[in-house]
Amino acid sequence: MTKRALVPVFRGQGQIAYTEHEWPDPGPGQLLIRVRANAICGTDREQFLNGSEVVAGHEAAGEVAAAGQNTSTPVGTRGVIYFKEYCGSCRSCAAGHTSLCSQKRASTGMTTDGGYGPWELIAEQQFFAIPDDVPFDLATMLLDAMGTTGHAWKRALHERQDVRSVYIAGAGPIGLGLLLTGRLILPADIPIYVSDFSEWRRNLVAELGGHPLDAADEESIRAVGAVDLTFDSTGKKVARQLAIDLLGNHGVFMVVGGQEGFSFDDVGVELLPRELSILGSEYFDYNEFAGNLDRLQNNRDAVRKLLTHTYPVEQLDQAFATFLSGESGKVVVTQGGAD
Ligand SMILES: [Zn+2]
Ligand SMILES: [Zn+2]
Repeated sequence: MTKRALVPVFRGQGQIAYTEHEWPDPGPGQLLIRVRANAICGTDREQFLNGSEVVAGHEAAGEVAAAGQNTSTPVGTRGVIYFKEYCGSCRSCAAGHTSLCSQKRASTGMTTDGGYGPWELIAEQQFFAIPDDVPFDLATMLLDAMGTTGHAWKRALHERQDVRSVYIAGAGPIGLGLLLTGRLILPADIPIYVSDFSEWRRNLVAELGGHPLDAADEESIRAVGAVDLTFDSTGKKVARQLAIDLLGNHGVFMVVGGQEGFSFDDVGVELLPRELSILGSEYFDYNEFAGNLDRLQNNRDAVRKLLTHTYPVEQLDQAFATFLSGESGKVVVTQGGAD
């Protein structure tokens, strides 16, 4: 039966309007998901400020409410949603690189209704099942917080194996996620420096096992010396230039998160004398979920530290106010009751 509900839609400039949307029964190969939690992402800011036709939210966890023909996921299965509806057969998908699908059909939360509403109609291949004992709010950390950052780490460490020091520009959700994942991957004695303007976030950096640096104090950042691997999560020219300047020989610079892109016009880069590598990383491959779930299961307490705020969906405006205040890690919006 078609589902109807009043859903929050971003009208632009931070205005939230409630309008009625409907979700038909799942067709062949589709699942209807009852959303239970959705983590706020840095890219939501754009929809929140500029408006969105569809319900935003692309870091959702929930349970299968109905399943269409030609599916095998039982109703009631809990899981998280890979927001890109990939084709499964293009060259990238065939190689497992679903985040680079050239025939992408939809982006849940961007082109179809996402996780701030009660339902999501998705393709079955977007769903990743999780054990019943993983709470929905924690499960959303499998998406950008651990998925996107895990992919970036994988690409970076493929390029450079003997990493002895790391610098991350920006302690927003992606920067903090990079720190969390890095701390779970790297030996404890390898320093991970993280810069941010917000003192609140710098305190969280310390709690997550990083070395906080004040982004306003460039001298203190340069004093770190030659770094093997630097990430930019800010999208800002000045931050990127500094992150590249910090690199030592064979240094690797990684652009991750957001939709800012990267252009060589943005920064002056002399690649040859230090034999630098410049890499980009986009979301993650579906087949990385399983390893990230293991990482989550083995480190629940550490992952919980990143999830600083939870709000019921009725307080979506407060959730965004907290997120935009700069005094948060990951903010998760829940609905449909506890856990
Ligand atoms: Zn995101
Ligand atoms: Zn594809």
